[in-house]
Amino acid sequence: MLTSFWKRYQDWYMDYIGFSKRNKQEGLTYFRDKLFVSILLLTSVIGVVSYIPSAVLAIYTGELFVLYIDTFAVLILLFLSFYKGMSLGMRKVIFSTNLFLLSFSLFVYLGFGGNGVTLLFMLNIMITLYSGRDKGLNAVFINALFYALLVICVYFDFVALTLPCFNAYAIEVLIVILMNNILFNLLIVFAVSFLIELLHSALLKQNKLQLELFEEHRNILKEKEKVESSDRLKTAFLANMSHEIRTPMYGILGCAEFLKAYNKDDKDYLEYVNVIESNGEVLLDVVSDILEISKIEAGLVTLNATTFNICETVNEVYKDLLPLAIEKGLTFRNDDFINPNSCIVNSDQAKLSSLLKHLIKNAIKYTDEGGRVSLKSISPTPNTLEFYVEDTGIGISEAYFKTIFDPFYQVDLENKKALHGSGIGLAIAKAYTEILGGELRLESKEGVGSTFWFVIDTNINQH
Ligand code: ADP
Repeated sequence: MLTSFWKRYQDWYMDYIGFSKRNKQEGLTYFRDKLFVSILLLTSVIGVVSYIPSAVLAIYTGELFVLYIDTFAVLILLFLSFYKGMSLGMRKVIFSTNLFLLSFSLFVYLGFGGNGVTLLFMLNIMITLYSGRDKGLNAVFINALFYALLVICVYFDFVALTLPCFNAYAIEVLIVILMNNILFNLLIVFAVSFLIELLHSALLKQNKLQLELFEEHRNILKEKEKVESSDRLKTAFLANMSHEIRTPMYGILGCAEFLKAYNKDDKDYLEYVNVIESNGEVLLDVVSDILEISKIEAGLVTLNATTFNICETVNEVYKDLLPLAIEKGLTFRNDDFINPNSCIVNSDQAKLSSLLKHLIKNAIKYTDEGGRVSLKSISPTPNTLEFYVEDTGIGISEAYFKTIFDPFYQVDLENKKALHGSGIGLAIAKAYTEILGGELRLESKEGVGSTFWFVIDTNINQH
């Protein structure tokens, strides 16, 4: 409670003398002035509180000189603290002079036994703190001058009667003690100002770092905004392109289908129409793949999980691609070992189906006539499913096991050119497997065949 009361009093005082309007950017000067205001405030409270017992004591012991100088100093202090129309610089000068005169008078009157020396020492430190090193040195210099004056007075016995405290000291001893005092004062002024300078330069460095961090943060935000807006543009562009290309392609394929109904006896005619149709479909696949890999690379493809029957999906994929395998003269088997209780899953149906299709199409593409392709699906645990796409095709050398999943990468371009597609299928398959929470793996032996396999979670939302 005392702290909050003090805090409120301090805030009120800062407002009262107009200090709270000061600009904090003034750095060290601002902090010095703030320190001075706090010292002034504290001294005015402590001064009044300590004045009462010391005045009573002075009256009681008949030390009227102490009573006079204490009263004078407290009055000046109160005037300084609460008189509004005075600059802070002037306040500092009067405050320092007032304390100096009080301390020096106490020293002269009470000698080394009083607290005058300590007050002088403390005053020099305070002046260094709130006004800087040069002002601190000036204070020590004035202090030295007054000491010299005192020594002269004592030496020539000018005021011997009023300075009984120093009569006990030989003049050499007095000079040595006072010189020591001055030296220690100097030492403390240098030490305090050195510390302040160190702290100040650390503060400046910290401010600079803070500014740099602030600037960096602003730049990052700007970059982020740019990336986000470019992502939005990319999404819009890809969606548009997808629509713009697919629509005319469906038109062409639809017309080809329509044309098949005519000239049914003209074999050449029908063959041309078939060429249009099959190449159109290939083109549509390639364009779709290119758009899809662009979206994946832009980070725009995300999981779209639903609950569906995986056994039915696998069977549909098989039925879709069976004609392609038969056309190539391959045996294509669907080994469905999924436990019927595990058929209902929560995953991304479109991605799973597309991923299987990419792998099976590759298996068919890279397996020669008479070979075998199989799709095996099993449920090793109630929460996982494993898929294997196996072929007895040309196989892949172990040297390509990693690079093969990079977009546009194709093995042995020169020799098997005719088989290659766009080089994107595996990159899409890999990305989809990862979105589904799995990892696409490969086992293969050149000339023997390949197996692509992956494991996925049956309830992807749980993660
Ligand atoms: P592509 O459109 O060329 O098939 P993919 O990304 O699907 O592109 O495959 C990349 C490369 O990996 C292929 O060019 C091929 O060399 C090799 N590859 C993919 N699947 C098989 C497979 N089942 N058997 C042999 N090689 C394969």
